[in-house]
Amino acid sequence: MGKVTGFLEIDRQDRKYKPAADRIRHYKEFVIPLSEETTRDQASRCMNCGIPYCQNGCPVNNQIPDWNDLVYKNEWEEACRNLHSTNNFPEFTGRVCPAPCEASCTLNIDDNPVTIKTIECAVVDRGFKQGWIKPEPAKRATGKKVAVIGSGPAGLACAQQLGRAGHEVHVYERNAYPGGLLRYGIPDFKMEKGVVERRVGQMTAEGVTFHCGVNVGVDVEIAKLLAEYDVVALAGGAEKPRDLPIPGRDLAGVHFAMEFLPQQNRRVSGEPLQTNEQILAGQKNVVVIGGGDTGSDCIGTSIRQGALKVTQFEIMAQPPTLENKLLTWPDWPLKLRTSSSHQEGAERDFAVNTVEFLGDESGALRALKCVRVDAKFQPVAGSEFEIKAELALLAMGFVSPVHEGMLNALGVKYDARGNVAADTRAYKSSLDKVWACGDMRRGQSLVVWAIREGRQCAASIDEALMGTTQLPR
Ligand SMILES: Cc1cc2nc3c(=O)[nH]c(=O)nc-3n(C[C@H](O)[C@H](O)[C@H](O)COP(=O)(O)OP(=O)(O)OC[C@H]3O[C@@H](n4cnc5c(N)ncnc54)[C@H](O)[C@@H]3O)c2cc1C
Ligand code: SF4
Repeated sequence: MGKVTGFLEIDRQDRKYKPAADRIRHYKEFVIPLSEETTRDQASRCMNCGIPYCQNGCPVNNQIPDWNDLVYKNEWEEACRNLHSTNNFPEFTGRVCPAPCEASCTLNIDDNPVTIKTIECAVVDRGFKQGWIKPEPAKRATGKKVAVIGSGPAGLACAQQLGRAGHEVHVYERNAYPGGLLRYGIPDFKMEKGVVERRVGQMTAEGVTFHCGVNVGVDVEIAKLLAEYDVVALAGGAEKPRDLPIPGRDLAGVHFAMEFLPQQNRRVSGEPLQTNEQILAGQKNVVVIGGGDTGSDCIGTSIRQGALKVTQFEIMAQPPTLENKLLTWPDWPLKLRTSSSHQEGAERDFAVNTVEFLGDESGALRALKCVRVDAKFQPVAGSEFEIKAELALLAMGFVSPVHEGMLNALGVKYDARGNVAADTRAYKSSLDKVWACGDMRRGQSLVVWAIREGRQCAASIDEALMGTTQLPR
């Protein structure tokens, strides 16, 4: 612990955003990094608690007090090495993680947690700038071959760990470029795609081979991969969206969020859209159904496209603005969260259920018919209302991985929620030679959980192939 009284002397200070009026004119990142001096001051606020709740709150168990101390002492390169010992991709989490670590920080008891995510991002961004982050190819090849299906954060972490352990790793990805939801779901304004490409470049230099534009189960049979490789790791995400099968669902202008968001990411990258149907929010009244991260990304994207008005509906009641710390700390609390996209001008409404999409004579959406609901989601009599909308985006979460195609062809067992069944010790599926990690195993989750699962799955695979493993879990 560098500065014993840091937390008493220095107030919490975090990264700010560029003004909304400016940032909505483009798709670039708009978070303003703290200066080096301020970052060091913020790191000195860490109290190095006897029990580092932050470290337990972080799904990859980043050694947060250690690198806070190193940053305070100006030992940035060692901080960068330490950070990478638990997290393959801190530049992703430093940008998009909701930071459960900060909810767990002891200083959060009075709402002033250490700015852990900001410091993490500063350490890794500096590491890249200084050239400290280099390819780390394995010293020896094991002669074993592993296929990883899916190149989201779980597949990337799994592949990087296995490659560094000396295995020949091939990543199969349906899309034209690697990254999974990092590339095609999360908008550029939250994370520019050069950030993903830089890491993929490092992995390629380490010897990982990417086969993009290959849909396993369609372009290549999974049986062929099973015959060719010693192990197949399934990291295909949880891509089946939750639908809203109400009257009018087929109207033009009603779309899943993940039909809308990838189009914009492709436009920004100059990649062909892969469809003739452009979904655009410009000059439209947009209603986003669903109050989570995906819904928030739909808001920011719609506003940048020039939507007339954006409204977001959530079926749950509005949560409290401040949590009761005595009940929640150090766990992740349920509370009202306002994202940068909300601040850009969306209206939010809670305890609202949509019961019908209303169309015009041409079959295009013109309005939504809604009703307010009580705590048991029962309609409140007399509370029906209509809202004008030409575009409705369904962002109500994801049910499970897609079963049709690769998974059903494999005949792998599912758990009760329809995810690929595998425990968090071995990550081994019901089938010989087949492992699973990330959203495909745990269901819709977070980037940081996907990284954790990819790392732990790699350690289990390495142990199964070699009888022992040096890979950290
Ligand atoms: C719009 C949106 C915004 C989000 N924002 C955040 C956020 O801000 N912060 C956060 O922490 N989390 C966020 N999440 C959640 C996070 O992105 C996911 O939890 C995480 O990406 C899961 O990683 P994964 O590697 O398991 O799967 P994915 O990222 O889904 O990657 C799976 C990959 O597998 C490929 N694939 C699937 N089947 C096949 C096949 N048969 N053959 C070849 N390839 C295949 C897919 O094309 C995809 O590229 C967001 C999710 C969405 C949808
Ligand atoms: S990965 Fe997320 S939880 Fe872990 S230290 Fe970074 S911001 Fe916090």
